[in-house]
Parts: sequence; C-alpha cells; structure tokens
Amino acid sequence: MKYLILGAGPAGLSFANRLLQNGIDDFLVLEKEDEAGGLCRSRDIGGSPLDIGGGHFLDVRDKEVLDFLFGFMPRELWDGYERDSRIAVGDNIINSPIEANIWQMKIKDQVEYLKAIAVAGCNLGKPMPDKFVDWIYWKLGDKIAEDYMIPYNKKMFGEDLNELGTYWLNKLPNVSFDETLISCLEKKAYGTQPGHAKFFYPKEFGYGELWLRLAKALGSRIRYGEKAKKLDIDGRCVNDTYKADIIINTVPWTAIDRIDGLDEDLAGGLKKLKHSSVVIEYIDEQLDTPAHWIYYPDPGLDYHRILVRHNFCPGSRGYWTETNLTRFDKSGKDEDNYHINEYAYPLNTTGKQEFMKELLDRTRTKGIYGLGRWGEWQHYNSDVVVARAIRLADELR
Ligand SMILES: Cc1cc2nc3c(=O)[nH]c(=O)nc-3n(C[C@H](O)[C@H](O)[C@H](O)COP(=O)(O)OP(=O)(O)OC[C@H]3O[C@@H](n4cnc5c(N)ncnc54)[C@H](O)[C@@H]3O)c2cc1C
Repeated sequence: MKYLILGAGPAGLSFANRLLQNGIDDFLVLEKEDEAGGLCRSRDIGGSPLDIGGGHFLDVRDKEVLDFLFGFMPRELWDGYERDSRIAVGDNIINSPIEANIWQMKIKDQVEYLKAIAVAGCNLGKPMPDKFVDWIYWKLGDKIAEDYMIPYNKKMFGEDLNELGTYWLNKLPNVSFDETLISCLEKKAYGTQPGHAKFFYPKEFGYGELWLRLAKALGSRIRYGEKAKKLDIDGRCVNDTYKADIIINTVPWTAIDRIDGLDEDLAGGLKKLKHSSVVIEYIDEQLDTPAHWIYYPDPGLDYHRILVRHNFCPGSRGYWTETNLTRFDKSGKDEDNYHINEYAYPLNTTGKQEFMKELLDRTRTKGIYGLGRWGEWQHYNSDVVVARAIRLADELR
C-alpha cells in the first residue's frame, strides 16, 4: 500500500482522514485496541461519559484545525466554557495560575509569597538554570516552588524532576513579578493566561465522540486489535505482513517490541526515552464547587488533579481523579471505575529534543515518519497533533 499508519489516536485518525480529503485511499491504519481515540477516548461510567485518558478539552487556535474537526462534529454539538481551574495550596483554594492569583490568598500568605518572588533568581538578574527544579526556584521563588510546583510536578511526572530539562517551559503561564504585584493591588489576575482559557466540551457526549466520528469516516481502513510489534525500517514493513511506501508512526517508539534497521546510536537513544503513566478513577460524589478542575500538590493525597464532571458535562454527576500510576493503590477498588493509561506523558528529559530530531530526520530519509505525541515524543495537545497531521499529509501529497 501507499501509506501504513500506526495508531488510531488523534494523530493517526487525522492523518488518514486528510489523505481521504486529498483523494488518496490507498492506506491502512493499525490499532492495537478494539476502538479508536487513544488518550482521547471516553466511556460511560456512572450514567454519563467519562474521559478515560484524563481531562480533555478542545481549545483550538488554528482555524483550519477547528474547521476540520467541526466537519466531523459540528459546532452546535459543543458547549463553550470559560476556564475555572483552581489550586488547593495550604488552606487556600485559589484560581490557577498561582502567580496571577496570589491576591485570592489570605493577606499574611500574600506577603510571604510576594517576599519570596521578589528575591527569585529571575528578578535579581541571575542567569536561567537548565535543570527543572532550579528553574522553578529561579522563576517563581521558594514559596511557590516548595508549596506547589515541586510537589505537584513530582506527583505528576515522578520523583526525579531534575531529569527534566527546561526547553519545554514555554508551555507554562508567564506572569512577571510586576504583574503579580499589580494583581495583588488591584485584586484581579494579570499576565498571560494558561492554555484552555476558553474551551469546548461536547454537549451530550464525552471528548471521545469526536474521534469515533473520525474513525467512522475511515470505514474498514482501520484494523483493530493489531499491535505493531515489529518494524523493519529498510523494508518498510510491519509485523512481517504490512508493506508500504510510507509508514506514519504515531505509536510510542518504545511500545514496538522490535525495530530492525535502526542505527546503533539511535537504538541506544530509544532506550533513554521516558514516559509517565496516569490512572483515571471515577468517584461518585457531588462536589460543591464551580471549578472545572482542581490541582492538588499535597503529597498526602495520591491524585494530583480532579475533574469536576458535573460542571462541564450537563446532566452528569461525580468527578474523576488523575493519579500517577506509581502512586495508585488499586486494592479494594472496582476495576470498572478506573482506567490505566500506560503512555500518558512523554517526559521532557534533558537531551531528548536533540535525540528526537536525529531519530526523525534519519527515519524520514527511509520513508518512516514520526507523528504526534508519541511519534514525536512531545507534550502536544490534540489540536496541535491534528494541525501537524494535516500539514504532514498535505506535504507528502
Ligand atoms: C491527562 C491528560 C490530559 C490531557 N488533556 C488534554 C486537553 O485538555 N486537550 C487536548 O487537546 N489534549 C489533551 N491531552 C493530550 C491528548 O491526549 C493528546 O494530544 C492526544 O491524545 C495525542 O494523540 P496521538 O494520536 O498522538 O496519541 P494517542 O492518543 O496516545 O494515540 C496513540 C494510539 O496508538 C495506539 N498504539 C499504541 N501502541 C501501539 C502499537 N504498538 N500498535 C498499534 N497501535 C498502538 C494506542 O492504542 C492509541 O490509539 C491530555 C493528555 C493527558 C495524558
């Protein structure tokens, strides 16, 4: 065949649908699960849809991407929301991001936080460090570092935060000390807001419905229950069966049991790629909060975020938690109420950017293209993955 696509998550589904839109139908998608959608799948739990890959909200900046997605699930099937996300820090529950909302804390806490930010490295003109933990202290001061950023990120990504680099931190909100001060004086948030300031969520479905529709449009061109176990790079062949002119890989490179034809340095580099796993658990309890989601840095709680479903999924009840698999204790829990996502976050370890560039540049010369969160090993949200899939399909046309 012309194209073989590994994985039917947002990346594989968008690439394949773009091929169809471009008049190409000589392709096949291989998916190891028995349904499409990857991390963006939903399931009915407690009488309503629940996103089993974690809290998923549609926030698209690129109009072409929005038109592409609304082409499968029209705008009228979505509700629009203004983000209400909160952080439980000490005995304060304030809006996120923390540095723009210190004004919501008790006055004595505001003073302590402001004093710490005033002497943070970045405000004293010190050079930016290249280790994640050092960067947190440098950027936000020791109060935010120790009360929120370090415990929260440890809960989410794992204990050794200094394995992570700083090249990805443009994803975090950027609020200057001046903006923090003004926000405390004027009692309102200042500075760049984090992602999803406004977002869409389906009116009657979970987020997974969008991707089921993209899958449906592909008909029998998806083969379910077919794990890519072996990739022969030079032969452009998968599982000794599927041969193609071009292979688009959207699955974690490290989830393919055997890759033949990879240069030794790349095979060695692959072993250093890291990821973290997240468990989503449904809790059948109504919470008295208007928040869509709340972050919990408290190391005494196993989860790091809760998603208050009844505030964005009309007619539903209950909430769900997100917990790093290493902190999740499944004993006594009903298996129908939780879902383990082994591949949740690609970790931004030092040296990863350079390695991924080398891997993708060299495999591309052999007709194998990495695409999406795992194919490129980047923290891409689904809208970014769709944009990259559309662009790649158009580029290869
Ligand atoms: C907790 C959490 C919250 C998130 N929140 C948001 C959000 O609010 N908004 C947003 O836009 N994005 C969000 N994201 C990101 C979003 O999940 C990803 O951008 C998106 O799922 C990436 O799509 P993908 O196709 O690249 O990867 P995936 O969704 O991971 O899909 C990969 C596919 O490959 C399949 N596969 C794996 N191994 C194999 C194999 N060997 N052979 C065949 N198939 C295989 C998998 O089953 C899966 O279907 C969030 C992610 C997480 C973890």
